Amino acid sequence: MIESNFELTAYNTFGLPARAERYLRLHALSQLDELQLEKAPELVLGSGSNLLLLDEVPGLTLHIDLRGVTDEFGQTLPNYSPTDGAPATIVRAAAGVNWQQFVLYTLSKGLHGLENLALIPGTVGASPVQNIGAYGLEVADRIHAVHAYEYGVGMTVLNKEECAFAYRDSYFKRNSGRYLITAVDFKLGGHFEPETSYGAVGDRLELRFPGQEVSPSKIARAVMEIRAEKLPFFSQLGNSGSFFKNPIIASSTYESLKERFPQLPAYSAGTGKMKIPAGWLIDQAGWKGKRNGAVGTFTKQALVIVNYGGATGAEILAFSERIQADIMDHYGIELEREVRLIGQKSK
Ligand SMILES: Cc1cc2nc3c(=O)[nH]c(=O)nc-3n(C[C@H](O)[C@H](O)[C@H](O)COP(=O)(O)OP(=O)(O)OC[C@H]3O[C@@H](n4cnc5c(N)ncnc54)[C@H](O)[C@@H]3O)c2cc1C
Repeated sequence: MIESNFELTAYNTFGLPARAERYLRLHALSQLDELQLEKAPELVLGSGSNLLLLDEVPGLTLHIDLRGVTDEFGQTLPNYSPTDGAPATIVRAAAGVNWQQFVLYTLSKGLHGLENLALIPGTVGASPVQNIGAYGLEVADRIHAVHAYEYGVGMTVLNKEECAFAYRDSYFKRNSGRYLITAVDFKLGGHFEPETSYGAVGDRLELRFPGQEVSPSKIARAVMEIRAEKLPFFSQLGNSGSFFKNPIIASSTYESLKERFPQLPAYSAGTGKMKIPAGWLIDQAGWKGKRNGAVGTFTKQALVIVNYGGATGAEILAFSERIQADIMDHYGIELEREVRLIGQKSK
């Protein structure tokens, strides 16, 4: 049933006031047959944790509520014995499944692989869109295939290469009008190679479990603890996680910037390219904890813009644009938004 003028405040983690002109909850694939969508709705909504909503979202908002986790044959997952060296397993999760619950569920079944991505908000269906990543892992590292509805065509399956994953990017993000993701196949289990290259994870494991063998659930626990300390809970302080992407610049640009800013951190991003932590740039430019009315940067992490209560999408957008302009002035670096801007300001 399509609802009109639907309030979206509870459906975006910034807690922004916005209304969908038309709203439909998609809980069964058969609804797609009935809808016969020739083109993408204005908004395909998961948990709203990577969105910046302006007051009005015209057209149709399709809220993805498809559920279920099975093996690739549609069977309930058995308990896998986490034997090192056992073959990897394909696990299929419907697009509306909560990401954190999915991570914990697979771990509880003896399937490792997603532990570094614990506690990222959102749905399974959105995870390939911006190729979510944290603590040395991107979801692309674990995706086997993506099931999708191609507007005007019908159901299809894309293999990993067709998804064209890149840093916080994918074919789906670059072509947001083409596919609605209905389910994702992950390759989990098999040989366990702990990813602890991020210093904070290794340090936390040593602190929590000194001298013990590293296990997938210990990594998940370490990651969840670090995240809980570092990031605001959106239920208490509205936010969308990292507001900007970490910029990738030419190594030559990095070298000349380093002469002016000797402390400038950077990581290799492929031949001739360096990735710069956006949080460091924003922090060093004096924005950490800065506040203007109901909008500010988080006191512990300058990359996170927060809604202190009562902010509008337009106010957050204006604040973010001031940061972008300042970073351009300071470093000559363009910050690109990671969150997706949707809708329009009411007149
Ligand atoms: C506190 C906090 C911490 C975060 N930390 C991280 C992090 O560490 N790493 C990281 O990568 N991200 C992080 N994020 C961002 C966010 O969690 C992810 O981008 C997440 O995947 C968004 O999921 P969602 O269901 O909320 O998507 P939404 O915000 O609802 O949608 C995001 C985009 O995906 C599209 N989309 C959603 N579902 C589908 C679908 N089924 N088919 C097609 N398109 C779809 C939407 O149209 C939109 O363009 C964080 C966010 C918060 C609030």
